[in-house]
Amino acid sequence: MHKGFEVANSWLGATRLQVASTCLGRAERALGHAISYAAERKQFGQQIGKFQGVSFKLADMAMELKAAELLTREAAWKYDQGTVTEADMSMAKLKATEVLAMIADEAIQIHGGMGLMDELPLERIWRDARVERIWEGTSEIQRHIISRELLRPHGA
Ligand SMILES: Cc1cc2nc3c(=O)[nH]c(=O)nc-3n(C[C@H](O)[C@H](O)[C@H](O)COP(=O)(O)OP(=O)(O)OC[C@H]3O[C@@H](n4cnc5c(N)ncnc54)[C@H](O)[C@@H]3O)c2cc1C
Repeated sequence: MHKGFEVANSWLGATRLQVASTCLGRAERALGHAISYAAERKQFGQQIGKFQGVSFKLADMAMELKAAELLTREAAWKYDQGTVTEADMSMAKLKATEVLAMIADEAIQIHGGMGLMDELPLERIWRDARVERIWEGTSEIQRHIISRELLRPHGA
């Protein structure tokens, strides 16, 4: 009796890695659309990807996606080795969910009005991304878990 929280905690880490993984896939898809559109759409006589305002967005999106992927892969590898910590899994979940939110939003921005149209999946990806920072532990709770692991050895 009254052991529900312990039971839930025993698998919450793994489900956080699942959330992180699905976010990476959707972020990759949104980034792919953004890159293609930036290379194809012309304004003021040139491809919009040649404007630094757009190309720097793409660079940041790719870099953040890679960072999220590496955190997730490392946590998953440590999970398989039996050495993963709560903070490892929280970092992967936090980073991947926040990166998906950023990439979905910037991908729409790069598409302009077209980004909101039903012909593309971007608005749907953006809308669906919102819950990822809430379920399986909110972003604030992930930050709490990470900081708790940092402070615990210092008695705080
Ligand atoms: C579509 C959907 C499906 C869901 N499916 C499931 C499911 O299948 N199974 C399941 O168990 N749950 C499910 N949930 C619930 C989900 O896990 C919770 O919504 C989530 O854990 C947040 O809890 P809460 O909504 O009670 O928010 P609260 O805990 O009330 O949080 C409200 C705000 O306070 C902040 N906060 C709370 N505590 C702290 C703290 N200690 N430090 C700093 N900030 C804090 C939160 O970060 C948040 O910003 C689902 C939720 C949604 C939206």
